[in-house]
Amino acid sequence: MQKPDPVKETRNEDQCRARRSEMGREWQRQRFGQDVYRARGFSVDYDAIIVGAGPAGLSAGTHLTQAKYRVLLLDKESFGGQIMNVEWIEDSPGSAAPVSGAVLASGMVNAAEQCGVHMELGEVVEIESYSGCKSVRCADGRAYTSSVVIVAGGLRARKLGVPGEDRFQGKGVIHCTLCDAGLYAGQAVAVCGGGNAGIIEALYFANHASRVHVIEAQPGLSAPTLLQERAYANPRLDIRCGAKVVEIVGDEFVTGVQVQNAATGRKELLNVAGVLARVGFHPATDYLEGMLSLDDRGGIVVNHRFETDVSGIMAAGDIRSESLRKVAAAVSDGKTAAMSAQRLLQSLKQEV
Ligand SMILES: Cc1cc2nc3c(=O)[nH]c(=O)nc-3n(C[C@H](O)[C@H](O)[C@H](O)COP(=O)(O)OP(=O)(O)OC[C@H]3O[C@@H](n4cnc5c(N)ncnc54)[C@H](O)[C@@H]3O)c2cc1C
Repeated sequence: MQKPDPVKETRNEDQCRARRSEMGREWQRQRFGQDVYRARGFSVDYDAIIVGAGPAGLSAGTHLTQAKYRVLLLDKESFGGQIMNVEWIEDSPGSAAPVSGAVLASGMVNAAEQCGVHMELGEVVEIESYSGCKSVRCADGRAYTSSVVIVAGGLRARKLGVPGEDRFQGKGVIHCTLCDAGLYAGQAVAVCGGGNAGIIEALYFANHASRVHVIEAQPGLSAPTLLQERAYANPRLDIRCGAKVVEIVGDEFVTGVQVQNAATGRKELLNVAGVLARVGFHPATDYLEGMLSLDDRGGIVVNHRFETDVSGIMAAGDIRSESLRKVAAAVSDGKTAAMSAQRLLQSLKQEV
């Protein structure tokens, strides 16, 4: 008879636990190039890591560095968040007049930097939680550890989901109006969506493009009345309600969109050089599925202190469930999440 394989020896429950814990340490050593387990507990790279440098993340980071914690702020695109791409913020606290989104964002970034927040570009693709330690991994392989994590990744624009949308990425399918509007000077573009974001961005395009077709699937626009009035008064805007883009067409670049009327089913080809989709946003939580509790729209479920169901992970701003989706609310969320983080960090310090 063949002898049993010695490697397959069985372990009892305690031995298994000890083995798992040793494997965890080994994993940490390999991953971070150091033994993060020290004689008296963990040693981590940062006290707090914040995912997303928008108003929520910047406000959280500023609060924690003012309280003398070591903070790393990671953002996949740039520092300042969504408002960097918004021409005017209409209801900024402390100003009756609209404030430039870029100016407001830069002020917040400068404040965070001056307080000592360490900022790096990096797309977070994984967060793992161990007792007393979180690990945050970026798409390029970098990984950091911290005691707490605040997730403040905001929203992602929904795609149209029509033929041509993927094929013409970067070739006429537009993502950032403020960055790209100048490229469409004197040409026609289509903006899909007649809500707040769609109308704001269509009005900005009208400063550059010769014609801006606004295509809204519902029978009427849903943007606030003031914006609707501005849109209908702008001679460069062609507003079409009760219609939707069903295909983006072109050769090497976008040359047009097929628009279908909901009532008649009739299709019409509009000649445009660019298309922007503003048909809604959803929380940027794809990589958190299975790790944190999400609501049915993908927002992170939090309690009144903005703590998630995983100890040491907080969420703030547009990404959380039932967010107000406003700058002022995001700043307030960031502060509240930071105060929860601070409470936890203080209790961890007392334990050591
Ligand atoms: C067109 C438009 C007009 C608006 N106008 C107004 C207005 O007039 N008044 C107002 O109060 N609000 C307005 N808003 C809403 C406002 O922009 C948001 O409420 C606010 O920016 C939310 O802040 P936040 O920090 O939660 O998220 P964001 O500002 O969206 O910041 C999130 C950051 O996280 C980063 N990120 C996401 N996922 C990852 C990841 N996996 N790894 C690393 N980084 C990541 C993103 O790159 C982004 O920089 C407007 C929004 C739009 C789109």
